[in-house]
This record gives sequence, C-alpha cells and structure tokens, in this order.
Amino acid sequence: MVESIKNVAVIGAGTMGQGIAQLCALAGYPVMLYDTQPDITKTALAAVRKNLETAVEKGKLSATQKDEALARITAVGDFRQLQVDVAIEAVVEKLEVKQMIVSELEKLNAIDCIIVSNTSSFPITQIASVLKHKSRFAGLHFFNPAPVMKLVEVIRGAATNDHTARVLTAFAESIGKIPVMALDSPGFIVNRVARLFYVEALKIVEDGVSDFKTVDQLLKVSGFKMGPFQLMDLIGVDTNFAVTTSMYNAFHQEPKFRPSRLQQQKVDAGHHGKKSGKGFYEYS
Ligand code: NAD
Repeated sequence: MVESIKNVAVIGAGTMGQGIAQLCALAGYPVMLYDTQPDITKTALAAVRKNLETAVEKGKLSATQKDEALARITAVGDFRQLQVDVAIEAVVEKLEVKQMIVSELEKLNAIDCIIVSNTSSFPITQIASVLKHKSRFAGLHFFNPAPVMKLVEVIRGAATNDHTARVLTAFAESIGKIPVMALDSPGFIVNRVARLFYVEALKIVEDGVSDFKTVDQLLKVSGFKMGPFQLMDLIGVDTNFAVTTSMYNAFHQEPKFRPSRLQQQKVDAGHHGKKSGKGFYEYS
C-alpha cells in the first residue's frame, strides 16, 4: 500500500480542481491536471499562474517558489496518463459521472493507489459501490477557495480501511490543511449545516421578504464573512444547486432542503456565478 504520497492527479479543472492543483503543487507534489475540456485546463493553469503572481507581488511567495510550483503542474490530455499515488476526483456534482471516473481510475491504477472524491454531497459508500477495491477509496472534501480554506473533511466510506484514512490525514496535513474526520452521510458536516444558509436565503427572496443584496448586506453586518448570494456566486450557482438537489433527494425529499425555483432559473439561464461572469451579481 502507498505509505506516503509522492504524486497526485486532479480530475476536473474547474473551480475546485484548479485550487486543489495549486495547493498540492505549492506543497511540493507533482500534479497532473485533467479535464474533458482542454480549454478549461488551459484557463485553470492561467488562473493558477495569476494567483501565484499576485502572491509574489504581495510578498507571500518568492518568484522561485512560484516558478517551481507552476512547473510541477502538468496539464494532461489523455486520461491514461493519470497513474499516480493519489487521484482526486473534482468533476461536476453528478453521481453517474463521478462513478464513471473513479471506476476508470481504479482500472488504470495499481491496487495501492488511493482514490478520493471531492464531492460535496454524495455519500462515499454510494460512489464506491461501483468499485472492486473499495478499501482504498474515501472522501477528501476541500472548501472553496481550496488554497485558502484550512478545513478538509476526510470521509470514510463503509469499506474505507484504516490505512487509507491514515495516509489521507497525513497528506492533508502535508498540504497545510486541518483534516477532520466526518461520517459518511449526505453533505457530511459542513454542507449539511450550511445548506439552510442558502435555501432559507433563497426562500426569503422568493417570498418577497427582502432582496438578495439586502440579505447579503445584513448577514455581513451580523458577522458572516460573505452573504449567501455572494457565496453561491463564488461556489458556482449550478454546483450549489446540484448539491442542494442531491441532499434533498438523499434525505427523502426533506422539505428543509427543497431546491429553489429562483436558483433553478439562474442555472437554466447560464448565470452560474463568478465563473460565468454573471450569477446573482455581475462580474467583469
Ligand atoms: P465546476 O463546474 O467548476 O468544474 C467541474 C469540472 O469538471 C468542469 O471543468 C468540467 O469540464 C469537468 N468535468 C465534467 N465531466 C468530466 C469528466 N468526465 N472528466 C473530467 N472532467 C470533467 O465544479 P466545481 O465547483 O469545481 O465542483 C467540482 C466538485 O467539487 C463537485 O463535486 C462539487 O460538489 C465539489 N465542491 C465544490 C465546491 C465549490 O465551492 N465550488 C466546494 C467543495 C466541493
């Protein structure tokens, strides 16, 4: 079994994938970054470069550290190149896509490769149901922005073994994170608590009680770092909606998790937040 991790693959180069690639590269790991859309991988690499340049300008990083980190990330166009010690799945929040990816990763990699999902909502045991070697699969849930947020939830599926959990905990620490073990339940800990922050805020606007900007302002004044609508734009309105829908279904149509029509409309209109230039707010 892999005792310590020497190289990493990140599958999905969107909001989370690019941040995870950046932070692993900065921590010294060679990273292979893959996405079905090569343009997205290019955009991700450009975003990582820009972030690191900003860090250099702010004196948080030396120019050499920046160059070395950038040199550690390889954009990979062929899935078959993803042979590594740990493969981090960070693709869209769709169960069947995640299962397809982890199953392909399992076929491609040696038995001691650890495969993890960055899912926000799907139970790890459910994703793992398609795998032959479930013991080496777990959840490794980063928060957005991945290079900044300290917390990482480590989620053991029913079959995840102690070794996998131990290696992942050490890995999370090695990239500067604070790993916390979470039980395998839909949304784990943080997303389950946070769901109502979004769902209730959307309801307030749908009911005409207030408008989204006022809700954001109010919550910021009352101590939150960001309002729910700003946060949905940062996360991705589509991703946030997919997570709510997944949790609503996983909890047997629990009304408190009911997805919002207003949010559905934003998704349908392509107003996915910062990444698409428009969500609840507009971005230039
Ligand atoms: P995103 O929409 O920004 O990016 C998803 C990427 O997956 C896209 O670039 C897409 O091209 C790629 N993709 C889709 N199918 C693929 C496939 N078959 N193979 C390879 N790439 C594929 O989404 P995101 O916000 O980065 O979310 C990714 C995962 O991380 C989701 O499971 C989400 O729930 C989770 N997550 C998101 C956040 C957040 O704040 N956005 C936080 C924590 C966890």
